[in-house]
Amino acid sequence: MQPLRGTRDILPNETIFWQYIYNTVLRILTTSSYREIRTPILESTSLFKRSIGNGTDIVNKEMYSLIDQGNREITLRPEGTASIARSFISNKLYQESQINRLWYLGPMFRYERPQSGRQRQFHQLGVECIGSISPMADTEVIHMAIKILTQLNCKDYQLEINSIGDLAERNKYETDLKDYLKYYNRDLDIESQKRLEINPLRILDSKNLQTQEILIKAPRLQNYLKSDSMQHFNLVCKYLNNLNINFQINNMLVRGLDYYNYTAFEVKTHLLGSQDTICGGGRYDSLIQQLGGPNTPAVGWAIGLERLLMLVKSKLDIDCPKIDLYIATQSLAAKDKIWSIILILEKYNINFELDLSDSSFQKQLKRANKSKAIGCLILGEDEIQNNIVTIKWLVTGDQEIIEYNDFIKRIENNTLYIQNHK
Ligand code: ATP
Ligand code: MG
Repeated sequence: MQPLRGTRDILPNETIFWQYIYNTVLRILTTSSYREIRTPILESTSLFKRSIGNGTDIVNKEMYSLIDQGNREITLRPEGTASIARSFISNKLYQESQINRLWYLGPMFRYERPQSGRQRQFHQLGVECIGSISPMADTEVIHMAIKILTQLNCKDYQLEINSIGDLAERNKYETDLKDYLKYYNRDLDIESQKRLEINPLRILDSKNLQTQEILIKAPRLQNYLKSDSMQHFNLVCKYLNNLNINFQINNMLVRGLDYYNYTAFEVKTHLLGSQDTICGGGRYDSLIQQLGGPNTPAVGWAIGLERLLMLVKSKLDIDCPKIDLYIATQSLAAKDKIWSIILILEKYNINFELDLSDSSFQKQLKRANKSKAIGCLILGEDEIQNNIVTIKWLVTGDQEIIEYNDFIKRIENNTLYIQNHK
């Protein structure tokens, strides 16, 4: 049995990294008043069509959509922002407070060609700051992304930022860009030829060399930005400087989703080959209104966790949880008495592994050694009869016999482990 193409199991020796990332992120974001939100993985298909946009790769060819048994068109979410905007509206979060700082972490689904750093089920961590038009909000969310990367020991990245203007500015630009590119239509790469009609801005993103050359003399989006857009962008840049966050302005940076305006940004790395973007985000001031909510500006980003992990895994010093005591029992009486010991170990947070077999002490001790526990607690007929426990300290091989009551006392006052056994 194999998992579906483009999906992966995250096994226990890897979940420790996920848990570490979750805890780190929780700490950082809580400090800045971001609260975790969990929305359903299934949403109605129309939500994504209306928000992400019909001309985008996601909606055109990447959605996992199906008809459920009640004939509803539903989709496994391909990203988080649309669901959060929907949730913001359905739960009337705007009634509770002016600003909603939210974050999420969970699986996303896109039907793409699986390769390194690209899966069909992958995970995103994202933040959304909803309710502010201020460039301070853009700066704050970018700061959150950089802080998370820094805390996870990730240093090999570049932050790129751009302003893509408001809808009117972009529409005008799009028309001029289209006119310019139409002239070179036959020299564009095939993908860009397709985009020319449905989403010409995305052509700026093309990696094709000939297309890039054609773009050199193309109209430039910055020349279409009016003073409001420019001022917003300049302030974001200024505040990022105040935070000592390095960035590059990349005027070719556009985002693949329709709902962005003003600020667009990405965090890229040279270390992951062609899947080089770890974080993408921007401002989306019209999305919530467009989905039927009140006119509410917002800004946010999403980090691809699989790509992030590929970058930082080797830099994180995370140990598997250690077992303190391996527990070996023999005889009915011992298997009967062990439960009261287990309750005490649990009370004092001593990690243990209970041997569930009926095999000989010799075999159980072998497994104890393999478990890398500090000691093996041995409880057999002798121990029961004499009201003692035996502990074999696995590093030294020393065996210690302890009166049952002493054993309990030593757990209670944390003196079970004698110095040289630890
Ligand atoms: P790409 O250009 O790599 O397809 P994108 O623009 O489609 O990325 P976004 O929608 O901005 O990606 O998603 C934000 C982040 O989520 C990406 O930067 C990436 O790290 C991650 N991501 C997106 N799609 C996938 C995928 N199929 N597998 C793994 N990670 C992904
Ligand atoms: Mg994509």
